[in-house]
Amino acid sequence: MKSVTHWINGAPAEGGSGRTAELFNPATGEVSGHVALADVADVDAAVAAAVAAFPAWRDASLVKRAQVLFRFRELMVAHRDELAALISAEHGKVHSDALGEVARGLEVVEFACGIPHLLKGGFSEGVSTRVDSYSIRQPLGVVAGITPFNFPAMVPMWMFPLAIACGNAFVLKPSEKDPSASLLMARLWKEAGLPDGVFSVVQGDKTAVDRLLQHPDVRAVSFVGSTPIARYVYETGTAHGKRVQALGGAKNHMLVLPDADLDLVADAAVSAGFGSAGERCMAISVVLAVDPVGDELVKKITERVDRLVLGPGDDPKSEMGPLVTREHRDKVASYLDLGVEEGAELVVDGRHTAVLGGGTAADAPGFWLGPTVLDRVPPGSRTHTEEIFGPVLSIVRVGSYEEGLELINGGEYGNGTAIFTNDGGAARRFQNEVEVGMVGINVPIPVPMAFYSFGGWKASLFGDTHVHGTEGVHFYTRGKVVTSRWLDPSHGGVNLGFPTNK
Ligand code: NAD
Repeated sequence: MKSVTHWINGAPAEGGSGRTAELFNPATGEVSGHVALADVADVDAAVAAAVAAFPAWRDASLVKRAQVLFRFRELMVAHRDELAALISAEHGKVHSDALGEVARGLEVVEFACGIPHLLKGGFSEGVSTRVDSYSIRQPLGVVAGITPFNFPAMVPMWMFPLAIACGNAFVLKPSEKDPSASLLMARLWKEAGLPDGVFSVVQGDKTAVDRLLQHPDVRAVSFVGSTPIARYVYETGTAHGKRVQALGGAKNHMLVLPDADLDLVADAAVSAGFGSAGERCMAISVVLAVDPVGDELVKKITERVDRLVLGPGDDPKSEMGPLVTREHRDKVASYLDLGVEEGAELVVDGRHTAVLGGGTAADAPGFWLGPTVLDRVPPGSRTHTEEIFGPVLSIVRVGSYEEGLELINGGEYGNGTAIFTNDGGAARRFQNEVEVGMVGINVPIPVPMAFYSFGGWKASLFGDTHVHGTEGVHFYTRGKVVTSRWLDPSHGGVNLGFPTNK
């Protein structure tokens, strides 16, 4: 049985709350250990360590900070298999997918290694006679990150590399469902030479989140998770005077025009719908099939889904793992009956899928649900509009591009979307008209690279700053403009007039 602790001031910390939560192996359903749940004093200890560490880290040279980041990157690469195995054991995703999330997170570390360049300000010589102006960006102080279960390494890495590179001290509150990755990353930061207190981890639930949102020494909060909690974190954090970026849930649509290559579309829909068992905020959960492609597309999708291998994340033959918890598995599975009640056709029923190791998704121990396809899902039904966050792909038949676009733009969320077509004009029109933050053109999961910023629109993001890229640098710093004049022969003595350009 493992016991997952906090990480405070450069060392593991048991905390004093006496509260813990169970950890599960989703592939077997067995309890694998416990994680500490912080109380207010535990959070305060982590923030106090961060406050103490901040001044020296802020004053560390840009080059020194970058050198620590380079070392952290090398250590992460060396330990990526270990990290992926920890993720797989608690989240359930297959090992190759866990390696993929580590790689995508590392791209942000690599981007942050360029911090000396990213923090360059502007300089204007001679804004007035012998007066110069320049802009600088400075760190905020202590900043916090609150992250979801579905990417226990990548989503924290959307935040902390840039926050730390900018000179802040960072406190991470990971998901209590898969907390182990955070501790390995903390150990690697220490090995990389990051001073104690600059990166801390408080494990926990709402108690820890609420304390971070209220703590007077926390200057900014980055959050990723479901929409109701994102809204709560944004409203509570800003009410306490903090800068907040809060990324929420999603319901991502793929619009398939009749001229698209249907084999490419079917491959993309199955990959983007069922990778990581659909537990991705950029997963495709709705395919909008513009007439007349529906029948043929559903046939091609079904053929591929029937071949998918469901099994434990540590079995190299598995393509899709279990869901994260029993409650989540049951919630996702409830949409199969709901979909049928609402008028959809259950084309592939994931409850009957065989699981490697024996049994079917319905009776094998563990939190299993196989890939499921619902066809002719009625537009506007709950199955169509609600975030299911599991391996359920809904096909909605539409008569035209306009009808499809209207369904996307009429939805609550605006995280990701994709159009599949060979018509460049249609694609260009789509990128202009769609009300979504991240758009793919013949690319089903358009997650931006680290040097662009990640974020959705509408109920998928509260706040105005997306994560990583240059928006991340702005979020974790504040600007200052200096206007400077040095005494020289132009000095004209006392002048009470308002300073104007001369
Ligand atoms: P969640 O909202 O349940 O939890 C996210 C974080 O909030 C966790 O650290 C959790 O401990 C904390 N939390 C949970 N309930 C809370 C409460 N009542 N008060 C305060 N804090 C609370 O999300 P999840 O189930 O871990 O993750 C899945 C969700 O995250 C999905 O909705 C998914 O779309 C979303 N997500 C979005 C993005 C994005 O970029 N927009 C990325 C990944 C995941």
